[in-house]
Amino acid sequence: MLNYNFKIAEVIEKIKELKAKKIALQFPEGLKIYSTSVANEIESKTNSKVIILGDACYGACDVSDQDMMNLVDLIVHFGHTPLPLNYKIPIIFVEAYSLINIEDSMKKSLKILEGYNNIGLVTTTQHLNVLEKMKTILEKKGKKVFLKKGIGTKEGQVLGCNFSAIKDLPVEAYLYVGSGNFHPLGIKLFTKKPVIIADPYMGDVRSIDEFSDKILRVRFAKIVKAGEANNFGVIVSSKEGQFRLELAYHLKEMIQNSGRKAVIIMMNSITPALLMAYRDLDAFVITACPRIAIDDASMYEKPLITPQELEIVLNKRDWSNYEMDEIKYDENKNIINSI
Ligand code: SF4
Repeated sequence: MLNYNFKIAEVIEKIKELKAKKIALQFPEGLKIYSTSVANEIESKTNSKVIILGDACYGACDVSDQDMMNLVDLIVHFGHTPLPLNYKIPIIFVEAYSLINIEDSMKKSLKILEGYNNIGLVTTTQHLNVLEKMKTILEKKGKKVFLKKGIGTKEGQVLGCNFSAIKDLPVEAYLYVGSGNFHPLGIKLFTKKPVIIADPYMGDVRSIDEFSDKILRVRFAKIVKAGEANNFGVIVSSKEGQFRLELAYHLKEMIQNSGRKAVIIMMNSITPALLMAYRDLDAFVITACPRIAIDDASMYEKPLITPQELEIVLNKRDWSNYEMDEIKYDENKNIINSI
């Protein structure tokens, strides 16, 4: 029935151990299709009341623990690994490993990787269980494979806003195993090195370069347009894992010091419809999820830019030094509020 391992037996055991009576289940968008059958199974095999959290969820940055603290004893969050946050109630994180076979696409990737000896191997939560297998396939062909653990991520794992596991690896190219362009685009913009995608879902192997060039051209256009703005909205997220209010204050001051105006707007979800209300603002700087400005750009009428892009607008950073925005943590699990 399921294409992912939801580890239901383990979850049920843990629920019984914690004596949790009220449980919320949270799934990212791609896994919500399985949510009702998982909820039914957990409810039928425990004495607990189970609810599904139906709002959009894209990461462990948005676990709703604050909202649910007086309503449930436990949240079971599927599809992501925990971030270094101080979650307010017990949470079980279930990676939901994909059951898809990665070998065929990995083998296909070897042809494109022929010219490279030192490879950075990267994947997402859904394939971390087969990381060793991936490594072995590459090593058998004589590749030297580089991996490291990130801050808030596991070995070889990247998030859309966290590339610490691939920072400064001495490699010539990266092999990303997984689906879609979202993570490979981030890897490319972060490392500026060749990124090859081995996509086991589509069964193909491709480079992200053309797509990332297109995105960079869009970013350049947004930066130019934001350069004409006089009134900025600096957006802060109320989601715990995206909350960077101090950074927003700093950016507001930077904008004001350049002779322009800025206001700070706090939001939970950021949508084109919600931003339409601010007719007097010309551009928005996003301190929330760094990928909103990059990946959803075409949905918004006015330019949305990242903090680093604002630095380019204000002539504090050169375009040649373009950098991805990341959400980083210090050793006390606090989000770092600077660029
Ligand atoms: S901030 Fe954005 S990219 Fe980072 S984990 Fe959350 S949803 Fe994903």
